[in-house]
Amino acid sequence: MATERTFSIIKPDATRRNLVGKITARLEEAGLRVIAQRRIHMTQTQAEAFYGVHRERPFFRDLVTFMTSGPVVVQVLEGEDAVAKNRAVMGATDPKKAEPGTIRAEFAESIEANSVHGSDSAENAAAEIAFFFAGVDIVG
Ligand code: ATP
Ligand code: MG
Repeated sequence: MATERTFSIIKPDATRRNLVGKITARLEEAGLRVIAQRRIHMTQTQAEAFYGVHRERPFFRDLVTFMTSGPVVVQVLEGEDAVAKNRAVMGATDPKKAEPGTIRAEFAESIEANSVHGSDSAENAAAEIAFFFAGVDIVG
C-alpha cells in the first residue's frame, strides 16, 4: 500500500455539537495524519459545486442547505491507503447501517447530517483537495 492523500469534511452537525476534536482523534487513531486544515462557512456556490455530481438527486437542495447551515472543517489527510482507510473509519452513509465503532455510527444524526465527508476515490480526492487548498498550505 502506498502513502496516499484524501479529503475530509467535518460537517455542520458535528461542528455545532463541538465534535471536531473527537472526530479528528478517530481519524488520527486510524493512522491518518492531518496535513492541512481550515474552518470555513461554505457558500451556496461552493456547496453546489462540491456536490455537483449529486445535482439530479432528490436530496440535493436539502444537502446544499445543510452543508451551508454552519461552519465546517475541511482537512487533507495522509496515510497508507488513506482513501479506503478514511471511508472505513467513517462508516456507511446512513448511520443506521454504519458498523459499530465508526464515526457515523457513533456521532451522525441522520443520513443527511452524517458528521463527515470523505473522498470516494484517489482521483476525486485530488480534485476535492485542489478545490479547497493551495499546494503551499499542505504540509506533509
Ligand atoms: P460523502 O460524500 O459526504 O462522504 P457518502 O459518499 O457516504 O458521503 P454520497 O452518496 O456521496 O454519500 O452522498 C453525499 C451526501 O449526501 C451524504 O453524505 C449525505 O450527507 C447526503 N445524502 C446521501 N444520500 C442521502 C439521502 N438519501 N437523503 C438525504 N441525504 C443524503
Ligand atoms: Mg460521496
